[in-house]
Amino acid sequence: MKILVLNCGSSSLKYQLFDMPQETVAAKGLVERIGIEGSRIKHTRTGSSTISKDADIPNHKVALKYVVDLLLDGDEGVIASLNELAAAGHRVVHGGEKFASSVLVDDDVIEAIEECVPLAPLHNPANLTGIRAMKELLPDLPQVAVFDTAFHQTMPPKAYMYGLPYRYYTTYKGRRYGFHGTSHYYVANRAAQLMGKPVEGLKIVTCHLGNGSSITAVDGGVSVDTSLGFGTVPGVIMGTRSGDVDPTLVLHIMEQENLSAANMSHILHKESGFLGLSGISSDLRDIEEAMEKGNERATLVVEMLAYGIAKFIGAYAAAMRGLDCIVFTAGIGENSPLVREKVCDYLEFLGVLCDKDKNGAMIRGNEGEISGGASRVKVLVIPTNEELVIARDTYRDSVKYL
Ligand code: AMP
Repeated sequence: MKILVLNCGSSSLKYQLFDMPQETVAAKGLVERIGIEGSRIKHTRTGSSTISKDADIPNHKVALKYVVDLLLDGDEGVIASLNELAAAGHRVVHGGEKFASSVLVDDDVIEAIEECVPLAPLHNPANLTGIRAMKELLPDLPQVAVFDTAFHQTMPPKAYMYGLPYRYYTTYKGRRYGFHGTSHYYVANRAAQLMGKPVEGLKIVTCHLGNGSSITAVDGGVSVDTSLGFGTVPGVIMGTRSGDVDPTLVLHIMEQENLSAANMSHILHKESGFLGLSGISSDLRDIEEAMEKGNERATLVVEMLAYGIAKFIGAYAAAMRGLDCIVFTAGIGENSPLVREKVCDYLEFLGVLCDKDKNGAMIRGNEGEISGGASRVKVLVIPTNEELVIARDTYRDSVKYL
């Protein structure tokens, strides 16, 4: 049966069509600039070349109609009729405290996702737009919501509370939620599989290092702490986000420069991190290139990043009272031997030994171990696959309705 996995942004829509339970991808694509001039759709049928079409796509419903038509297309398509489509799975960024796992979408679920909009004002409305558009287009198709925050709902209060007056927790739901949960869940379980051990018996630190980054302590298969928080700024430095900053410095800058909350938010989210520190780029590839040429601020970025990641791993080893495995994933985690080597270098005292040759070879979608034989802690590189988790959850949660 076919499961359509959707990731709707405010002006974009990414999709993958899975054959389940075989877990193979039949087709995938991207609709860009929805509601903006210059909309286009890129579609790839597995084993065939990518086609790209310009089209007038004013909203997500029209975008989804294009996707469905392409999936049914005689030349580029992969299904003969809509009856082959069993369900749709949506990435939803914020499930608040309401959702600790994926859920079949009904009116109550839509309302609950709506209630989480203040927690993710940019993302949840876009995710909801996708769910509603799909409902209008194919009203009988079961839909499942898979939340970025759900995996972290196992964190204990000592990890998720902030030291602010308690009323801010009760009034505004102000607490650590964490993000990239689907990715952390996938790579932790894949790590256990690669190690040939049940995840229930392992203490794993998963490092999702991409444009946005988060590090998670996964103890016995559940998240017990994570570096992103109420929002997506804290933790290690990221492409354009600052990572951890003393909030009193933020207040000081706002006072000195007479900045509004919106101005300061823009600085923290869009002008900081690799870009703000280096003045060069938000992309680590550019930073590494500049570092090789001797650029001091680029060097500072790489040193700060590796140092920050190592500090979180050390902290989480303490939080879990042990460490069996470190996983690197996402754009930087999967492709930067330099950052991985520098991180491992700090952690020798914990029994982490990086094999330089294995580390150097682990790029562009390779999966495997980069620790040496004598390393007490396994260090793995695992390409993340959030779409597969969404497909699996959608298959599991919708199959009883088919
Ligand atoms: P993601 O958000 O997972 O797509 O990760 C994107 C980021 O991965 C980019 O902005 C780069 O900083 C980083 N990246 C991708 N390829 C490489 C590479 N070969 N070396 C260093 N960083 C990379």
